[in-house]
Amino acid sequence: MITPDELNQIPIFACLEEAERQRFANKAADVHLKSGEWLIREGDIPYFYVLLEGDLALIKDVLGQAREFHRYKVGAFFGEVPILMGAPAFVSVQAKSWCRIARFDRQQLQELIRDSAACSAIILQTMNARLANVQEWMKEIPSSRVFIVGSQFDTDCRDIRTFLSMNRIPYEWVDRESEPERVPVCISADLKGPAVVVDKAFCLGESPTVRKVADALGIRTRPTRENYDVVVVGGGPAGLAAAVYGASEGLCVLLIERNAAGGQAGTSSRIENYLGFPNGISGDDLSERALRQAGRFGAEMVLTRDVQNIEPMTGVGYCVEMDGGDRVMTKTVILATGVDWRRLEAEGIDRLLGRGVLYGAARTESPTVIGKDIFIVGGGNSAGQAAMFFSNYANSVTILVRGAGLELSMSQYLIDQLASKKNIAIEPFTQVVSVGGEDHLETICTSTRGAEPQARRADALFVMIGADANTDWLPRNLQRDERGFICTGRDVMDLPNWNGRRAPFLLETNLPGFFCAGDVRHDSIKRVSSGVGEGSMAIAFVHQYLALEQKEMAQV
Ligand SMILES: Cc1cc2nc3c(=O)[nH]c(=O)nc-3n(C[C@H](O)[C@H](O)[C@H](O)COP(=O)(O)OP(=O)(O)OC[C@H]3O[C@@H](n4cnc5c(N)ncnc54)[C@H](O)[C@@H]3O)c2cc1C
Repeated sequence: MITPDELNQIPIFACLEEAERQRFANKAADVHLKSGEWLIREGDIPYFYVLLEGDLALIKDVLGQAREFHRYKVGAFFGEVPILMGAPAFVSVQAKSWCRIARFDRQQLQELIRDSAACSAIILQTMNARLANVQEWMKEIPSSRVFIVGSQFDTDCRDIRTFLSMNRIPYEWVDRESEPERVPVCISADLKGPAVVVDKAFCLGESPTVRKVADALGIRTRPTRENYDVVVVGGGPAGLAAAVYGASEGLCVLLIERNAAGGQAGTSSRIENYLGFPNGISGDDLSERALRQAGRFGAEMVLTRDVQNIEPMTGVGYCVEMDGGDRVMTKTVILATGVDWRRLEAEGIDRLLGRGVLYGAARTESPTVIGKDIFIVGGGNSAGQAAMFFSNYANSVTILVRGAGLELSMSQYLIDQLASKKNIAIEPFTQVVSVGGEDHLETICTSTRGAEPQARRADALFVMIGADANTDWLPRNLQRDERGFICTGRDVMDLPNWNGRRAPFLLETNLPGFFCAGDVRHDSIKRVSSGVGEGSMAIAFVHQYLALEQKEMAQV
């Protein structure tokens, strides 16, 4: 318990009357930390703190690397800036020795400012000094860790930019065709593909891949162990939720993601219907938070690795094989591989893929559509979000829909938002028949209500016409529906190929201990929240399955 005498030793409380000090002491939480423990993590709800004993370090995540900026000594107070700005904590604070801290709520800080002119003056003075320090730090720290030189139409270059953006790693990109004067001299003009410089040190000049860039940035791309309790395949909302719940409940979890965490949701410019975010949240923000959360609980996550085979082992468990042949063993699997964009049947599409024609709508494309006339094919929420996002950059955005309109396929809130934008047009009953252009997309031919196709100038075509499950690579005896989605629970219970001696769990496939969650599951609701729900539920079934296995082993 904090005493008024202890507060009297701290300058900010020394100017209060004894009775007031007693009042504050009565309301303070007495926080004790061992060396290495965290008092605050970036993003936490802010409190007002006073350091009574010990030594605290102020640590900020700068471009994915933790950097110590300052040390707090006994008598220091902090936390007032985020509270007064109504923001979450924007730095982390870690104990560097045994520490004792008095913690106050927002309301007590407000009372301190309101009731004591002397305290208010000290706080204001300290805040001014802090803001001056922040300005100095901003000058010191680099604005990006990665410098990319490459063409707008180069697929490797685009993949690297998308990967960095989805991992929220700031980068600078120079299009060597439109800005040749900005290409650094250290990068050879003879290079055909992209070149990437990481942290001003590693120059990946020869065919840099997403994996090489991830390695140079220190992102984990290889598992550290041979055995796990659960391997989660896919790092979209369902897989990330499974990793968070699995690791938080003590399971040894490996999540394998072929690209960057976030999945389809990671490409969304604004998810407005996910519970707890009244103003919406961008997909990359949501996935970055989930990734941090899973990491904090101890889940191991490897990115840029494609799972190419999963084989049941003799007895129990599975062997999971990644590209390049790396393998890990696991007692259980959670498949959360989501869906891939459905291909558009139109003449010339494949030839111009990546050269103006794109599936999905990554936010990294925003600089490439500035002032351009672009088209989006599809009438779902994803198409609506993309149109809203690109309308802030493009000259015009035209949404082409095969049906009568958007009412049956898009949420009303998005339809209303589209109607408020002057540069967005919607063309119902319209199909793309062909696309044309020499080196990149220049025209598209569209037909409305089956009329004679009409050619029109187009700078970009984003195709978002639904999605298919890509599950051909999975074990042949894994039960799928006619469209390749994975069957679970009741759908496999009565099948002759259900391998278990009991009823399957709700999210269990016909292979015992092999679970499935999210969009790739037959009959799933294709939403972020349902993916998150299923991923979390799958972990509960993993626990039940492991308990049953243990019981059976004990009986043998
Ligand atoms: C642009 C867009 C906007 C959307 N907006 C909303 C919205 O506002 N609200 C809402 O509720 N829903 C929205 N959705 C739908 C929502 O994003 C999906 O329902 C959700 O992401 C599904 O989650 P998932 O984890 O099942 O699959 P996915 O998100 O598809 O994730 C699957 C992951 O698995 C990885 N993967 C696939 N195969 C392998 C493999 N073999 N090895 C390793 N990794 C693999 C993929 O790379 C991917 O990252 C939107 C979808 C899109 C595309």
